[in-house]
Amino acid sequence: MPELPEVEYTARQVRAALLGASISEAQVFWERSIARPDSAAFCQEIAGRRIEGVRRRGKLLLLDLSGDYLLTIHRRMTGNLLVLPPGWRLDSRLQHQDRAAWERMGPTFVNDRYQCCCHEKRQKEYEETLCLQHDQPFYCRVCFTLADGRRLLYNDLRKFGKLALWPRAQESQALAGLGLEPLAPDFTSERLGWLLQGRRQPIKQVLLAQELIAGLGNIYADEALFMAAIHPLRRAETLSSEEVAALRQAIVTVLLRGIEHGGTSFNDYRGLWGEAGSNYAHMQVYQRTGQPCRRCGAPIQRITVAQRSTHFCPRCQPASSVASAGGRKLPH
Ligand SMILES: [Zn+2]
Repeated sequence: MPELPEVEYTARQVRAALLGASISEAQVFWERSIARPDSAAFCQEIAGRRIEGVRRRGKLLLLDLSGDYLLTIHRRMTGNLLVLPPGWRLDSRLQHQDRAAWERMGPTFVNDRYQCCCHEKRQKEYEETLCLQHDQPFYCRVCFTLADGRRLLYNDLRKFGKLALWPRAQESQALAGLGLEPLAPDFTSERLGWLLQGRRQPIKQVLLAQELIAGLGNIYADEALFMAAIHPLRRAETLSSEEVAALRQAIVTVLLRGIEHGGTSFNDYRGLWGEAGSNYAHMQVYQRTGQPCRRCGAPIQRITVAQRSTHFCPRCQPASSVASAGGRKLPH
């Protein structure tokens, strides 16, 4: 979490809201959120750059900056981007009052609504869409102040996410180790089938390997395997060509559905305005342990595959296919 749909949805929001905006200043409140260069150099090098493009690769959000720089944002567990309108003031008093609380929560942001009459119309628009109340902890790790007075916050409760600033010449290094892009035209059944050849691991584990397919995580891997009626413990190499085609289609379908619903927010994921996505209501198996399968009524089961909790329907995704998976193709 967040996975490809959440990152793609955020990328679209950032593109709509921030394309063309200039970063006048960056402040880092948790140094380890910056992967490269060090936080002082990061702040120095990013200041004054304009956001000229917004892209996504796997679970990475990419901001193309003026002067041929690239900002990569990997949100990992709980990283979120949030835009604050002009008039929100950064309060860092906690830093001197309670060091432990400061390190846990970061600064607070206060809405000085009466101080921004020059932005009155814009302020009103924001307040109608912004799903936030002032004074709540954002767990802000990095704050970008934009030239138009807005702020772009990188918030991250668990602090596993990483931001990195690269000269564009190093883009291939920034994106190294990422596998097939599942929403790209070249994600074909043939390529997926070729990828699975000779892989003896459970298919669920293979789907999570970012160096093979970039962007799937626990939620969408479980949902795709359910849609394709494939047991998560099937050895990847044993999938028939029909099953590979069904799996490719299922992966694309669950990802597009996730984007359409604004992402899956069962815990920390939020959109650019602090809003929750609605895709959780559309889960077929993920976190539905013991509940009836929406297709056949059998109780959804939970097992552990490669240290990850895995949800499936024992009737729609039969285990018999696991027993017979010994390197042979299954009969159909
Ligand atoms: Zn079922």
